[in-house]
Amino acid sequence: MAKRDYYEVLGVSRDASKEEIKKAYRKLALRYHPDKNPGDKSAEDKFKEAAEAYEVLSDDQKRARYDQFGHAGLSGSGQGFGAGGMTIEDIFSQFGDIFGGFGFGGFGSSRRSRSVNKGTNLRVKVALNLEEIATGVEKKLKLKKYISCNNCSGTGAADGSAYSNCHTCRGSGQVTRISNTFFGQIQTSTTCPACGGEGKVITRKCPHCAGEGIIRDNEIVSINIPAGVSRGMQMTVTGKGNAARRGGINGDLLVLIDEVIHPELIRDGNNLLYSLFLSISDAAIGTNAEIPTVDGKVKIRIDPGTQPGKILRLKGKGLPEVNGYGKGDLLVNINVWIPKYLTKEEKRILVKLNESENFIPQPDKSDKSFFEKMRSYFE
Ligand SMILES: [Zn+2]
Ligand SMILES: [Zn+2]
Repeated sequence: MAKRDYYEVLGVSRDASKEEIKKAYRKLALRYHPDKNPGDKSAEDKFKEAAEAYEVLSDDQKRARYDQFGHAGLSGSGQGFGAGGMTIEDIFSQFGDIFGGFGFGGFGSSRRSRSVNKGTNLRVKVALNLEEIATGVEKKLKLKKYISCNNCSGTGAADGSAYSNCHTCRGSGQVTRISNTFFGQIQTSTTCPACGGEGKVITRKCPHCAGEGIIRDNEIVSINIPAGVSRGMQMTVTGKGNAARRGGINGDLLVLIDEVIHPELIRDGNNLLYSLFLSISDAAIGTNAEIPTVDGKVKIRIDPGTQPGKILRLKGKGLPEVNGYGKGDLLVNINVWIPKYLTKEEKRILVKLNESENFIPQPDKSDKSFFEKMRSYFE
């Protein structure tokens, strides 16, 4: 694959200042950071690509050579990245400093850079009715959670400024120890014990959050749930979970979808099922019936002589596919209600009617049974 232009990778112009390049890289590095995109290979590649571009463009000599000769000016010189590129670990050890905003230290204590605080994820269950599922819905959720402290801008330091660089690690969040061994000097780096890897030390704590940078409060979070979701689905709303201590990365809000049972309609995938009960006479004479749907009632015609077990299909009156095209149908299953009690008069009339040969059952042998029909609809 052809190497992309470094300026293009960082999205800056060819005469961009050092500061602009640094800013652009920081933005990309945060977006494609492996801690934020676990297991995402393309994000990792983008992360590496940005680091490589930054390595060159942030160095005057390399940048000049690149401007003059392009990628060819860097390869084989021992100063470029070579064909193998760098590992994520290399990037952290080399460019740890760029992530140096307060509280936004390095990434994870296992890595050789400052540690970053990560807020915990919040889980919430949202129950939707079929009408909401049919159209999609915006839900405003009132969440009790950790939010960033306004008084210190989440830094935990009084007025947001009462902190200084850690003396022990001089702001790097890491302390390096050199020990002499049989094999020579060995250098080991560990998290700075004085600042816990943050690189900064608070000199005066914010009184509102006791130096934590977060407080517990209610927050209204508005989420857009797409049409067609179903029970058990989970949506991730990035960054809407708990805020992290001292300006770290927010956790995510995980929204678990539940369904409210509809009083009349049963959901089956994207189809809806409705049982319509007709009186004996309506089934025999024919009638108009009202069918509930997710967007109001619709009238349908019931033909004379309609048999129980017949299924009428209202096309497109079901639920939409989630994130896709097409809609399910509403299947109306016809039932005929047989009276459980009869008055003497009613009984007399029915006995009289029963003498008519029209009342002798003459089932259509080609007519499939209810279950066969139901099965065939879902095949
Ligand atoms: Zn505070
Ligand atoms: Zn320190």
